[in-house]
Amino acid sequence: MARIYNFSAGPSMLPESVLLQAQQEMLNWQDSGMSVMEMSHRGKHFMAIAEAMKNDLIELLAIPANYKVLFLQGGATAQFAMIPQNILNGKAKACYVNTGAWSTSAIKEAGKYCDVQIVASAEDSKFTTIPDFSDWSVDADAAYLHYTSNETIHGVEFSAIPEVGALPLVCDMSSNILSRPVDVSRYGIIYAGTQKNMGPSGVTVVIVREDLIGLAPKSVPSVFNYETQAKSDSMLNTPATYNWYLLGLVLQWLKQLGGVAAIEQRNIAKAARLYKAIDESNLYSNPVLKEYRSRMNVPFVLADAALDKEFLVLAEKNGLGSLQGHRSVGGMRASIYNAMPDAGVDALIDFMAEFERSH
Ligand SMILES: *Cc1c(COP(=O)(O)O)cnc(C)c1O
Repeated sequence: MARIYNFSAGPSMLPESVLLQAQQEMLNWQDSGMSVMEMSHRGKHFMAIAEAMKNDLIELLAIPANYKVLFLQGGATAQFAMIPQNILNGKAKACYVNTGAWSTSAIKEAGKYCDVQIVASAEDSKFTTIPDFSDWSVDADAAYLHYTSNETIHGVEFSAIPEVGALPLVCDMSSNILSRPVDVSRYGIIYAGTQKNMGPSGVTVVIVREDLIGLAPKSVPSVFNYETQAKSDSMLNTPATYNWYLLGLVLQWLKQLGGVAAIEQRNIAKAARLYKAIDESNLYSNPVLKEYRSRMNVPFVLADAALDKEFLVLAEKNGLGSLQGHRSVGGMRASIYNAMPDAGVDALIDFMAEFERSH
C-alpha cells in the first residue's frame, strides 16, 4: 500500500522528508557509529541534538529570554495536574474557560487541587462558539487563567489572545502550536503534546515564564516540578531521546519552509478551501461559527448519517485515512496540521465532491 493522506487528529501525519531523513540516519547518525536511540542522553552527540532542537523551537516561536522551555513526558494530560501543582502558589482557586472536551478534562483534573472557577463556557452551544472575552467573569484573586487555544475534537479555535488583566495566562496549545505566530510574552505557561503538530507522541513542550518556576510545595514529586526539571534541563530522568531527535527534525523542516509565519499562510489557505467546499455543498456541514472555526481540525457531518460508513470506506480506498470524527461528536473530522500537504486537502475536497455527486 502506498502512503496515504492521513487526517488523524494525533498521532498524525509527519513530513515525508523528516521520515526519510530519520530512515537514512537510523543506523548511524552523522557518522557517530550509532543510532540516536542508542546514544547516552549525556553524551556529546545527543547533547548537540538536544541543544539544536531547543534553539530551533526558541527561534521559531520567538520565545523571550525570561522563559524556560521544558521537554517532559506524560502528555498534555500530565500538565492538567502539573499546572495547579506548580503555580497555585498558596491560592485556593484558579480560573478556567470551557470551550470543549479538552478544556473539560483540564478542569476536571484541576478540581483535585483547587476550587475551579469557570469564567466562561460554550457548553450551551454544544461547543460551536467561543464566549466573548467581554463576558468572562475573571476573578483577580485566582492563581491563573487556563484556556485551550484549539479544541481538537470540536474544531473551535481562538483567533486572538484573551485579555485577563494581571493573572498569569496558561494555554493548552497541543493542537495548534507552531501553526501561527504567537506572542509568547503574553503567557505565563504554554504547553503542548508533540503528537499533533510537532512530531511523534512522547514529548510535551512546556514553556514557562521564570517567575512561575519555584512555587511548587515540597510535596510535589521532582519529575512533576518545573523547578527541578528546569534546573536539570529536562533530564532529571532519562528523556524520550529519539522523540526529541524527531521533534528536532520537524523543527528544521519548518524553518526551511520559512517558519511559523510562512506555514500560517499555507494553513489559512488549506482550511479556507476545505470549509468553502463544505459550505457550498448540500451534503456536508460544519456547525462552528465561522469566526471560531479551527484551521487545524475540521469536523463535518453528512446530511444523512446513514452514509457515514460508506463515506469512510470509500475514502480509505482513495488513500484518505482516519477521517472518522471523535466518538463523542460523531460525523467526520479532517485534521490538517502543518504536515498535511496542499495536495492532501485537494484530494479530500475532490473525493467529497465526487461522493456527493454519486449519492
Ligand atoms: C490531544 C490533546 C490533549 C491530550 O494530549 P495527551 O498528549 O494525550 O495527554 C490535550 N489537549 C489538547 C488540546 C489535545 O488536542
